[in-house]
Amino acid sequence: MTPDISSTDLAGIGIGPFNLSLAALAHNVPGLNARFFDQKRTFSWHPGLAFDNSAMQTSYLKDMVTPVLPTSVWSFLNYLVQQGRFYDFMAARFDTVSRREFTDYMAWVAHELGTCQFDAAVREVDHDGQRFVLRMASGQILRARGLSVGTGPVPNLPQDAPVCPNCFHGIEYLERQPDITGKRVAVIGGGQTGAEIVLDLLGADPMPAELTWLSRRSAFWQLQEGGLVDQIYTPAYHDVFLNLTDAVKEAAVSAQKYSSDGLTPATADEIYRQIYRHRYVEGRDIVSLHPGRTVTRIERRFGGFHLNAETPVGGVEELTADIVILATGFRPAVPACLDPIRDRLNIEAGGALELDTRYRVQWDGPEETPIYGLNHGRQSHGIVDPQLSLTAWRSAAILEDFTGKPIFDALRRVSAGLVDWADGRVSEDTVRIPA
Ligand SMILES: Cc1cc2nc3c(=O)[nH]c(=O)nc-3n(C[C@H](O)[C@H](O)[C@H](O)COP(=O)(O)OP(=O)(O)OC[C@H]3O[C@@H](n4cnc5c(N)ncnc54)[C@H](O)[C@@H]3O)c2cc1C
Repeated sequence: MTPDISSTDLAGIGIGPFNLSLAALAHNVPGLNARFFDQKRTFSWHPGLAFDNSAMQTSYLKDMVTPVLPTSVWSFLNYLVQQGRFYDFMAARFDTVSRREFTDYMAWVAHELGTCQFDAAVREVDHDGQRFVLRMASGQILRARGLSVGTGPVPNLPQDAPVCPNCFHGIEYLERQPDITGKRVAVIGGGQTGAEIVLDLLGADPMPAELTWLSRRSAFWQLQEGGLVDQIYTPAYHDVFLNLTDAVKEAAVSAQKYSSDGLTPATADEIYRQIYRHRYVEGRDIVSLHPGRTVTRIERRFGGFHLNAETPVGGVEELTADIVILATGFRPAVPACLDPIRDRLNIEAGGALELDTRYRVQWDGPEETPIYGLNHGRQSHGIVDPQLSLTAWRSAAILEDFTGKPIFDALRRVSAGLVDWADGRVSEDTVRIPA
């Protein structure tokens, strides 16, 4: 049978928030044919962590389009209007939107746009000298001039972790729904994912017999927030960042960690109050908080797990648990579908695609057929790259680069920001990691 062959200008692999923003803004580019594919049956956003009360860590104005095109129909505000709930939303005076509502907004964009196709896994991508050739799981073949890789990061699992139904990554938490009744549960990881899982376990009825929260971090650090901190989440700082040396970039990203990776204050406060209530009001002392512990080994033993954790003073603690939840973060990865051209791509030591300043992946293919890497720029473009703050702005920059046309005036209207960052002249002594 002859395969079904079609063509497009730009093909996006994966429909998470980042390629979705590109799809939403591409909709406003006359003459551009862009198509996006996801292996999932419908749009979803980290369903394994979609707790009833999880809140966004970023403003709803940092949606798929608003920062560069507030007149787009694909804005969060238009979603509210289309759902008939604008006034009810405003009256609620939320500090932040729930992740569930923001997910519903993104699902609305993805399913209404008409350029996003679900149940459409991309199996293989090759390059025939002139165009990318995408082979879909369905057997369909698509030729495209440009590629946008938005397949997201993958779970970062400790080496040799005995992954099984009772030892799994936190991203699967709600889907696994382990029976914790009377069990000893260890949560490893002191970021927001670990915190949300711990909070859920604290409210469980019936409770686990023991709940231990271990973190490599020296304490359970909260998110650094406020106007001055947020200056690093602006296009102005992004431009400054691009001019830093690699060593200064690395130090800056490390020093800025808790501006994006700390605990939401509301979650941290609620955890503290729950632990207080359990211990002092209900007289149940089942929770242990262990910061400053680096888990070095997890072994199956006697139907459960035996953990070794190094302490900051050089000691090793041992712990046993029946269920181990690994809230150990994510790492960038090149998706398997790029295997046919993998040898031609520059890949950073940490596994991310190496990007130039235009978000183009460095590779040995023709300049006219670019590959854009979304969520691969934490080292090259800064701490803002894996989150939503500059997502719409990055999408607009990519679309202008791909079409070679100035389309989004907003890109040329951004303020220089309120902080003088000593552009490109920052010495390696200037940015220090706090002790
Ligand atoms: C629980 C959680 C909450 C977060 N909250 C916030 C927040 O409030 N604010 C913020 O700024 N950031 C937040 N982030 C960080 C960031 O915004 C998200 O991780 C975001 O989902 C990253 O988007 P993405 O498009 O890179 O990838 P993903 O959302 O991971 O999407 C990738 C998609 O690619 C698809 N895919 C993979 N391979 C293929 C293939 N071969 N063919 C077809 N499809 C494929 C997958 O099915 C998936 O749908 C959060 C992260 C997590 C884990």
